[in-house]
Amino acid sequence: MAHAAQVQRMSRLMIKTLRDDPADAETASHKLLVRAGYVRRTSAGIWTWLPLGKKVLENVSRIVREEMDAIGGQEVLLPALLPKEPYEVSGRWEEYGDLLFRLKDRKGSDYLLGPTHEEIFTLTVKDQCTSYKDLPVILYQIQTKYRDEARPRSGVLRGREFQMKDSYSFDTTDEGLATSYALHREAYTKIFERLGLDYRIVSAVSGAMGGSASEEFLAPAAAGEDTFVDCPACDYAANTEAVTVKVAPVEDADHGPVEELDTPDTPTIEALAAHLDVPASATLKNLLVKVDGEIVAVGVPGDREVDLGKLGEHLAPATVELVTAEDFVDRPDLVRGYVGPQGLAGTAFRYLADPRIAHGTAWITGANKQGMHAKNVVAGRDFEVDQYLDVVVVEPGDPCPKCGTGLRIDRAIEIGHIFQLGRKYADAFELDVLGQNGKPTRVTMGSYGIGVSRAVAALAEQSHDGSGLCWPREVAPADVHVVAAGKAKQTELALEIGEKLGAAGLRVLVDDRAGVSPGVKFTDAELIGVPTIVVAGRRAGEGVVEVKDRRTGEREELSVEDAVARLGA
Ligand code: ATP
Ligand code: MG
Repeated sequence: MAHAAQVQRMSRLMIKTLRDDPADAETASHKLLVRAGYVRRTSAGIWTWLPLGKKVLENVSRIVREEMDAIGGQEVLLPALLPKEPYEVSGRWEEYGDLLFRLKDRKGSDYLLGPTHEEIFTLTVKDQCTSYKDLPVILYQIQTKYRDEARPRSGVLRGREFQMKDSYSFDTTDEGLATSYALHREAYTKIFERLGLDYRIVSAVSGAMGGSASEEFLAPAAAGEDTFVDCPACDYAANTEAVTVKVAPVEDADHGPVEELDTPDTPTIEALAAHLDVPASATLKNLLVKVDGEIVAVGVPGDREVDLGKLGEHLAPATVELVTAEDFVDRPDLVRGYVGPQGLAGTAFRYLADPRIAHGTAWITGANKQGMHAKNVVAGRDFEVDQYLDVVVVEPGDPCPKCGTGLRIDRAIEIGHIFQLGRKYADAFELDVLGQNGKPTRVTMGSYGIGVSRAVAALAEQSHDGSGLCWPREVAPADVHVVAAGKAKQTELALEIGEKLGAAGLRVLVDDRAGVSPGVKFTDAELIGVPTIVVAGRRAGEGVVEVKDRRTGEREELSVEDAVARLGA
């Protein structure tokens, strides 16, 4: 039993439960964690953990710590207040943009509040490890992180100050890195199992099918800000940002020559499809964007949307912007609303396309003349694609890239991320150790995060009902919540059973508050969500209590001795 037994009397606990949801709360975890007295908002995205909340947070931390120690991780604690220089070396002082909290000391030197610590860990290992014999090393910390999030919503789910477990592995070989990564994957699996979270491991990078350079641990929940796909037929699962499109090869069909169609007032796909009475999927939409100022066209089927985030990631570090009316001023070759790639792709603009615009497919698209479209425009015959990219917004039913079955899409909360960094930071800081051959060897790294405070919110999202929270036992603030539902006799029995359960090794919360009605106590017990509720009520005089399972609602009357024996087991 990893928990220390404890009896906490509610009469001495600082807790004020609320009957109403906080006005600004949208998600269940935000509402319930505030109402049940676990956390309190101090400022936007900045939270105070009250006694019960701190217990849950500590329980999550303890599980994380035990499993990190089990894979040989060594716990350290780095500062949160950091000098600018290492982040200038890595480039992240700039790259982080507005996400970084920057500040100055009294001498005017620049500092930041750490959003994540790759730089400082790399420097720590450079300072401490000199030979291949000193590696591999896994270091971790559970620490407060700072990010000036644009929309700190949903309570502790997305804070500007939050608790993260971050670990970093240092190896001399790629195989070593793969092993450190696999150890983390295993540890994370155990952590999330023990936390009682429903979670999925999904690929976080496109193209890495079955690959493991980066994976996310997602907790399915309606309140989640991430979306992921999973295949009902095989084991494929990926963040929607990482889904790849696989297109069946098209047989060489004879499509007939390009034919121009008079289509007045049809600058949108909807108008065009209605005018010609064809499905939008038969049309080719050409989105014009500016990539580092240069006009580029992106071709996708007319019924699909371009995911600008994905496009940006593919083209990074180039910047991607939508074109504006001004960009057409000195480009008479680009007829707004009627652009087609035929005759223009590769000359007037670079042409990027979704893989569905495969060689041999025929499309209805703009004729590059006002009010005109063209049909039988064939990829590979009438225009060439400069580059195929996965840029469309994934939709439910899209084929699984592994087996072709229709994919499902769900929302989730990112609770963990494991990432093979490789030599990026080791290169930036020239982290070498003396190799077996006597020569300096560049170190390769992994970085691995768990949102410790976010996990508390994720648990609350997944484990609650209409009456309140329902914590899984390992993270609950107590094992048993004993309610004295009556006067002196009931309180006496409640305290007695509380002591007995404590002696049996359990963490007990006893509601011994005087002057609080049984109804209010029951409501609070349901709201607080300890897994087992014991009520000393009507039959207290006979030494009989009611034992209730918070989750299932099942209840049973037992003698105090039987209840202690049952729960203490
Ligand atoms: P997100 O996409 O949600 O912003 P991220 O990709 O920026 O997360 P990482 O940098 O991988 O997150 O951080 C590691 C872990 O820290 C995440 O998996 C998440 O669980 C947690 N985390 C990140 N940002 C926050 C935040 N603002 N509040 C609480 N937890 C966070
Ligand atoms: Mg991430």
